[in-house]
This record gives sequence, structure tokens and C-alpha cells, in this order.
Amino acid sequence: MKTKILLKEADMPTHWYNVMADMPNPPTPPLDPNGNPVGPEALAAIFPEELIKQEMSTERWIKIPEEIRDVLRLWRPSPLYRAHRLEQALNTPAKIYYKNEAVSPAGSHKPNTAVAQAYYNKQAGIKRLTTETGAGQWGSSLALAGQMFGLEVEVYMVKISYEQKPYRRSMMHTWGASVYPSPSTRTNAGRQILEQHPDSEGSLGIAISEAVELAASRDDTNYALGSVLNHVLLHQTVIGEEAKKQMEMAGDYPDMIFAPCGGGSNFGGIAFPFFADKAAGREVQLVAVEPTSCPSLTKGLYAYDFGDAIGLTPLLKMYTLGHNFVPPGIHAGGLRYHGDSALVSQLHYEGLVDALAVPQLETFEAGVLFARTEAIIPAPEATHAIAAVIREAKRCAESGEPKTLLFNLSGHGHFDMSSYDRFFAGELRDYDYPEEAIKASLADLPQVKFPQN
Ligand SMILES: *Cc1c(COP(=O)(O)O)cnc(C)c1O
Repeated sequence: MKTKILLKEADMPTHWYNVMADMPNPPTPPLDPNGNPVGPEALAAIFPEELIKQEMSTERWIKIPEEIRDVLRLWRPSPLYRAHRLEQALNTPAKIYYKNEAVSPAGSHKPNTAVAQAYYNKQAGIKRLTTETGAGQWGSSLALAGQMFGLEVEVYMVKISYEQKPYRRSMMHTWGASVYPSPSTRTNAGRQILEQHPDSEGSLGIAISEAVELAASRDDTNYALGSVLNHVLLHQTVIGEEAKKQMEMAGDYPDMIFAPCGGGSNFGGIAFPFFADKAAGREVQLVAVEPTSCPSLTKGLYAYDFGDAIGLTPLLKMYTLGHNFVPPGIHAGGLRYHGDSALVSQLHYEGLVDALAVPQLETFEAGVLFARTEAIIPAPEATHAIAAVIREAKRCAESGEPKTLLFNLSGHGHFDMSSYDRFFAGELRDYDYPEEAIKASLADLPQVKFPQN
């Protein structure tokens, strides 16, 4: 029985897959606060031209430059595993496969797009990139990518994670980046938040505001986003393209695909290449898994909202909890985002992508079971997909259905061990669905007059 299904370097994808080519309806455009579609010029203050083109392109295949493939080859193609031991532990007839994105140098899927974004910015003559980071996975990925292409990287790290994950900071320093806890006093956005909430633990939305403000104010500086935007999801499709080949090598095809969902990039990365089959009539269920304490897809509103807390970004049509919503301090820092990718949101709205929310303690139980069977210690974000897969595998055990389940192991948890310690000490808890906070935040949605809102 095979455990690892491996591709050769030569099998690494040569093109990214653009889901916009296969969506039943055209993607919703980003809008300015007056409700007018935002053109490429408005994005040019913070993004290079090539990325703006990718953001809007509806071409099905986009060529991956050789310089990017050269760096990706340091760890790609990533292995696909059959989780025999987890299957046995669950006594399930389901077949469980996982794509292991933890093998990248930063330990997650995020370098797949960091490398591409650093490359295009370097090509455009940019000297410095600013960005936000939650748990530190994105900041360390961009630090690594900046180092590969000779760019300075300045990272605004959500304060609660800055304190919880000191070694992510060390990692970013090792790769040459500067790191600041957010909200910081370095930006107007940060100072404004600190005035209203001196004890703010920070959020991805706030950190984005800080990084965007700095990029917009300097010509030699651009901004890089770790998720949410179309070009980011595009770069992540190498995951699903490889997984498709590997499932074929295994002589199998997934009935269901699961991935943790923060801004939607690793979910889109593994799911979209299979969506191409779904659009062509093949049955495959795509499930985005989120925390019950930050349930944008399962409890949010499908509406135009800002991507950041202050309202500096264009409006995106997405499932949102409101840009003011600050989620509880769960340990899956990378899933604490108020919104979601516009592409994932639209496909969810159209019933083509499913969503599921799981509570924190169940995700840690799943992570521990995974570590004790499959040996890899998963990131707290990745445990969300594992928890969902375990639920499904248990259902299969009851019904006797031998479903084929595939999930994206989006990262390892080597820098999250203090979270595991707290789980073992009984110090973690589930959070009630923050209904009042979300209601209040949704009351502040921007009122745009656009036909679809
Ligand atoms: C950032 C992150 C996520 C969630 O981000 P997406 O944009 O939804 O992909 C999931 N897992 C890990 C390990 C991460 O670092």
C-alpha cells in the first residue's frame, strides 16, 4: 500500500489555473466607495502591473515564469499522502488523502504566492514590500521570498500573534525582514486604533490598513497580500494541479475536498483545479472549513465590504462579518479574517462551494489525533480541515460508504507548540458565536449603490 505519492521536478506545473475562466457568472468587480468599478490605475499605487493584470484576467491558463519555478523547485512538487494510520484509527471505510504543503521552507502553502509576488515586484523596479501577518506564516513566507529576489520586507504582525509566536519573528529576522506588532504607532491607521482601543490585540484587518497606508505613501514601496485577492488564489493553484496528477497516479478521485479557509487562498489553491472538472459536469464536493468564532462563509453577509479595518482598500463583494469585526483570539491566527476571497464567496453564494465551521477544541483534538497517527504536527489552521475530514470519515464509518476524501495540510505547527501546550493544560476553550459583535459590525457595512448589492 502506497503512503507517499510523489511527482518528479519535471512534473511541476508550468501554468497557473484561473478559475475565472470556468465560473458560471462573471466575477464581481471591486468597487470604490461611490460604487464605481475600480480600474487598474487605482491599484497601481500598491501593486505591480503584472499582478493587476492577473487580478482581472479571465484567461484559463497563465504561464509561470521560469525564475519563479526555479525558486518553487526548492520544495515543490509537494508530496501527496494516503493517511492509512488515521483511517485505521477512525476505523473508517473512507480513503483519506492529504497534500502536504508543510514541506515549504516557511512551513506552509504561503510561499507559493510570496515567491511570485516578490518576483513581479522586483521586475517592476520596486525596492521594498510591506505586508501584514497573522500567525506569522505569511510574514515569514514573504521574508523568504523577498530574500530570494533582493527586496526589503517590512511586516506588521497582529499583536496577539507577535506575543504568542516569538519564533516566527525570529524566522522573519533570519530572512532579513523587519517586524512590528500591529496596531503600531508607525502609521495613522495604527495610531487611530490605539486611541480608541489602547489594549487592542490587533487583527488582520488592522494590520492590512497599516501596511497599505505605508505602501501607498511611497513610490519605491508596494504592498503584498497573503490571501483573498484573485492573483493570490491563482498562484496557489499549483497545489491542486499537482494533487490532481497525484490522485490519478493513486488511481483515485476525491468525492470531497477540504481545506481550512481564512482568506481562501489555500482552499482555492487545492479546490479550483478540481472545480474545472466540476464545471465540466464531474461530481466533486469542495468544502471550505472555518472557525465557529470567525464564521464568515457560514454566518456572514454576502455584500460589498472593505478588505481592511479602516477602509483603505477597494470594496470587495464577499461573505463578511463586517470590516470592524475583531474575532476572538483563537490560536488559528491565520483564520482570523473578517471576510473571504471574492471568488470563493461567489462560488459559495452560487452553491458550488460548501462551507463548514468547527469549534477550537475539536480542531486541537483533531490535530493531536493526526500527530499521533500520521506523525506530522499540523498548524492550528490546518487542524480545521482535519477536524472536518474526521467528522466525514466517522459518518462513512456509520454508513459504510467508502468515500474518497482529500484535504490540504496547509502547514505544520512547529511554531505553534505553545498553543498545543495550552490545549494539553486545559487552558483553551471554545468561543460562543460572537453574535452581538458581528451584528454591530455588520451595521457599519459601507452603503454602496451597485446593482448586485
Ligand atoms: C494562512 C494560513 C491559512 C489560511 O489562509 P488562507 O488564505 O485561507 O489560505 C491556513 N493554514 C495555514 C497553515 C496558514 O498559514
